[in-house]
This record gives sequence, C-alpha cells and structure tokens, in this order.
Amino acid sequence: MNHVKTFEVEALRKDFPILARTVHGKPLVYLDNGASAQKPRCMIDAIRHVYEQEYANVHRAAHELSAACTDKFEAARRTVQRFLNAPEDREVIFVRGTTEAINLVAQTWGRANVKAGDEILITAMEHHSNIVPWQMLCEASGARLVVAPMDDTGTLMLPEFEKRLSPRTKLLACVHVSNALGTVNPIEWMAQKAHAVGALVMVDGAQAAPHQRIDVQKLGVDFYAFSGHKAFGPTGIGALWGRAELLEAMPPWQGGGEMIKSVKFEQTTYNVIPHKFEAGTPNIADTIGLGASLEYLMGIGLDAIEAYEHELLAYATAKLGEIPGLRIVGTSQNKAGVISFVLDGIHSADAGMILDEQGIAVRVGQHCAEPVMDFFKLHGTIRASFAFYNTMHEADALAAGIRKVQELFK
Ligand code: PMP
Repeated sequence: MNHVKTFEVEALRKDFPILARTVHGKPLVYLDNGASAQKPRCMIDAIRHVYEQEYANVHRAAHELSAACTDKFEAARRTVQRFLNAPEDREVIFVRGTTEAINLVAQTWGRANVKAGDEILITAMEHHSNIVPWQMLCEASGARLVVAPMDDTGTLMLPEFEKRLSPRTKLLACVHVSNALGTVNPIEWMAQKAHAVGALVMVDGAQAAPHQRIDVQKLGVDFYAFSGHKAFGPTGIGALWGRAELLEAMPPWQGGGEMIKSVKFEQTTYNVIPHKFEAGTPNIADTIGLGASLEYLMGIGLDAIEAYEHELLAYATAKLGEIPGLRIVGTSQNKAGVISFVLDGIHSADAGMILDEQGIAVRVGQHCAEPVMDFFKLHGTIRASFAFYNTMHEADALAAGIRKVQELFK
C-alpha cells in the first residue's frame, strides 16, 4: 500500500497538457478514459520529433532518415513486447487498434481453422468488436457462436462458462476488462479451461492494458489485443500479440508491399512475421508515439497504477453509493476503474449534458455493448471511467455534479 500513498498524482497530471484546460469555464474533470485517454507531453513530443527531424518511410530506403525512423519503429515493437512480456518482438503486429486486431485473427486464423460445426465461445459482456467479427466468421464458415452468461452483478458465471466448453470449441474470445461494467475476468483460469478442450484463447485487452500489468505468458493466452489511444498513445495504432507458431501458420490478411518476400505474376511468396501481417506503409509516427506512451506508463509502473486506481474506484464507488436514486450497474467483486450507473427518472443523455456543463466528461449510451444493456434491460448508462491521473477530488466533483443533475430534475 505504500506505493499508493506515494503515488504522485498531481505531479503526473502536469505531464498531460490538456488536463490544465477548462471546459465551459470549469476545470476539466475527464472521466471518459474508457473511450479514449489523454496524451502525455512525452508522446506528443516524440511524434513532433519524428516529423521535424527523422521522418521517412521505414524498412525500405538506404538513407539516413529511413534508417533512423526504422530503428525507432522497431524499438517501439520491442517496447510493446516488454509491455506485454511477450517472448519475442516478431510476435507483435502493429494494427489500427483492438478492432482491427480481432478482425485480423478472425479473417486469417479463423478462415483457415474454423469449419461448420465448430464453436467460438465469447462472454455476455463483450464489446461489439469482439462479437461481430466472430459472427461474420460463423456466417462464412457455418460455425456457431456460443455465449457464456453473466449474473446480475456483471460477473461471468464460471460453472456456466465451463459447461459451454467442449471439443467443438475452437476459440475462446474474451474481454479482459469489460468497458461497460468494469468487470475483470479471470483470464488465466479461463485460458487453462479452454486449452484443456483444445481451444485457443484470444483476449480483448482494450480496457485492461492501460490499467494493469499484462503478462501474456503468465495469462497463458494465444492472442492479446489492445488499442494505443486508450493507453495514452495516439489514435490509429494498436497491437496484436500472437504466439509465433500460430502467426507463422496463419495465412496473410491484406496483400501489398512489405508483406511479401517475392512477387511474380505466377506466384508470390510471403514475408516472415511480423511483416507478413503489415501490408503497406505503416502508421510510422504514431507507432513511435505509442512506444513513448508505453515507456512512460512502464516508468510510472503498472502495479502502482493499478493499486492507485483501485483506491480511486473504491472511493468513487462509495461516494456515488451515498446518492439516493443512483444505481450502479456492474458490481462485480473484481472490477477495474469503470463505474456505470443510472439515475431514477433521468435519461442518461440529459445527465451527460448537464455534467458536461460542469466540465465533467463522461460517456452515456450503450458503450458499444448493446447485449449488456439488453441484459440489464436498459437503454444506456452513464459511465465514469478512470485513469491514473484522476483524483479523489474529481470523484467528489462527479458526485456533486450528479446531485446537481438530480436537483434540476426535481
Ligand atoms: N474492446 C473493448 C472492451 C473496448 O472498450 C473497445 C473500445 N471502446 C474496443 C474493444 C475497441 O477498441 P478500438 O475502437 O480502439 O478498436
């Protein structure tokens, strides 16, 4: 607990220029980190430096700028490798984000390995991006999508999960931390169970990677995806990690430059991983920016971040719990920094607007998780999602803001 007490949140906030601004004349209280997180100056500087001093295309030219840029680009790959504790850097594929990573696995591994009669197991708390690509695969292959249910707290029902695993299960595709509820799933245990029936395991880590230390080897999974923009990095860049032997056996996805070894009109041979999956000119500057953000996060320490956010979540949950007419949706024992809630008699869109007038940024609606809203029989929720730069004071501001919303609707 000592590191929590010494967590220098005020000093860290200064690393994020945008946190100093006001919104509608009020200090910004940014609680929409689950949608996208704010950016540290070191990342902004890294991108500016590339464009001002080192920019050229990567991997191709024989000149100084290209060599410098390629070095930084490949250094970012090694940073992602360390961030995930991946065995090898060639197992890290740069993609646009979690959505693209999941689609890549569905369209390459999936099309090559999933047949009619097979099953893909997901959970009831998935984001649309971990549902639709598998539905598309099932449609194309004749496989079946199977859903493991959750209970009223938003916790996965483990015996029900186990019952849905069988030799037909080819893949477990599962969210690590639910964006709509904050539930943290027991991935290590789930992966062991899935592997025991011969299934592979793909994890949607979009909401986990920015908030806790990820160790893909300890988790024992086969694929892990996250988005840079939620991890204080740029938009348009993220990573897919996959075990080398799986990636090597998978057919390529998009065809073009970089992903080939040799092209003849008669026949093309493909490049080695990771290049086989990185067709065309990549998002060079943003990849380097992502590397800077992840180095920054690792510099603070993911364990310290997780512990601080845990304290913050407990504090904010208690504060919001004191408000009559407020109901928290998603009350699992094991939660990360998300509080989804509804207010009696008040539409979440109205609440979001009034909070915004007070400088408080939250997200309202379905959070790209319509089946979760259907399960709780809601049209949407108000969601406060926290990052390590949020403070107890901001949790107080949120609680005061909500009381003001309720006053206006009395
Ligand atoms: N999965 C989860 C759990 C998410 O929260 C999100 C983003 N809201 C995604 C996947 C998709 O991420 P992206 O839009 O960055 O591809």
